Amino acid sequence: MQVGISAAYEILGDAEKRANYDNLSEQTDQADYSEKRSRLNPVRCGVCRQVTAQPRYIIFWRVISVVLATTRTPVQGIFCSACAAKESLKSTAITGLIGWWGFPWGPIWTVLEGLKNLVGGVQNKEHEEALLWHNALAFADAGKVPLSYALAERLLSAKSSEIRARAAHLTTFYRSQGFKPTGTLKNNWTINPAQFLVKLLFLSVVPVALTAAIMYSDRSSSEASYGVATPPSVAYREPTSSSLDAPAIDYNAFEPATPTCDHEVASGKILSGAKRLSKEGHILQISNGSSGNAIVKVRKADTGSLLASFFIEQNGESQLSGIPDGLYRIQYAIGTQLAENCKSFTETSTVNEFPNPEALITTSEETFEGTLVKRKRLSYTLYAIPGGDVTPTSISPAEFEDGN
Ligand SMILES: [Zn+2]
Repeated sequence: MQVGISAAYEILGDAEKRANYDNLSEQTDQADYSEKRSRLNPVRCGVCRQVTAQPRYIIFWRVISVVLATTRTPVQGIFCSACAAKESLKSTAITGLIGWWGFPWGPIWTVLEGLKNLVGGVQNKEHEEALLWHNALAFADAGKVPLSYALAERLLSAKSSEIRARAAHLTTFYRSQGFKPTGTLKNNWTINPAQFLVKLLFLSVVPVALTAAIMYSDRSSSEASYGVATPPSVAYREPTSSSLDAPAIDYNAFEPATPTCDHEVASGKILSGAKRLSKEGHILQISNGSSGNAIVKVRKADTGSLLASFFIEQNGESQLSGIPDGLYRIQYAIGTQLAENCKSFTETSTVNEFPNPEALITTSEETFEGTLVKRKRLSYTLYAIPGGDVTPTSISPAEFEDGN
């Protein structure tokens, strides 16, 4: 026993006083072994002050950023496993929540030191072995041989060759005294998965939240700029290298829908020139047997200026009355939907003109009952396929639209 305890002091001295192992040799040099022997106590946890059979010396880091400044503060000392778990959680939480917000060291240190906290802090195997060896001797001194024996047996595989040798001495001594090993110490330093996950959560909550916020704002801004307005037809179009030879692209797809006439137009409705018609006059009658609705225009044959136009629905029959004397040309367009101005079609399938100008002249005839005024009634039928006794000729839409 005496040999073992003296040997322990040679490498350890007062472990409580020297949680920081750096000045170990200094202290052992000055140690007065005979005095200290009476004061050899087991190691206590630096936080809860309880005797702990398996203490560890650990450094945890707290990273704190304030505006742009980032600081790292070590929290170090001898811990029992319970207090180490609490401090590990606390340092990780502080680092994870407050560490990120400095540049550039905030994120760098938060990750580096945060990972160290995550795996249980910075530990040194030789420091731990020295603490255990101290306890092996202290428990022996207190008469707690099974505890001392178990620690010494564990230290037979110590990293430090010196402690290995001392531990071998002690176990040999115990065997020579007739002691038998009664068991091994339960390792209470195993990583608790639930605590590990909680620490991981603390470390990742800030970057995860920021990433989510950025992704959300990205997505909502892209929806606002082109998500809704893009017609679906664009999605499967091949990209073309030149816009000049890209006939595949339907440019209509990019244009807004053409506005249309906002009210129902009755068949026979005069679309323009109503004021130029008189109460009495000639009549133009139209039967619309074409494939759509029709707009018929009456123009003066000499100037081409418009007298009037009117609307006849498909399969309808309407007439324009009050046409003054004159020489006229009759034009018509076939379409489906009236445009916004309600005077023309959004699209026409046919635009035609009847070949010969019509002379509408009022004549009068004297009868025994008085003067009989005779006016003309022109009658046309529009066909889907050219037919009848007159064959209309095709004209350009521009010619039809001229002057409305
Ligand atoms: Zn403790």
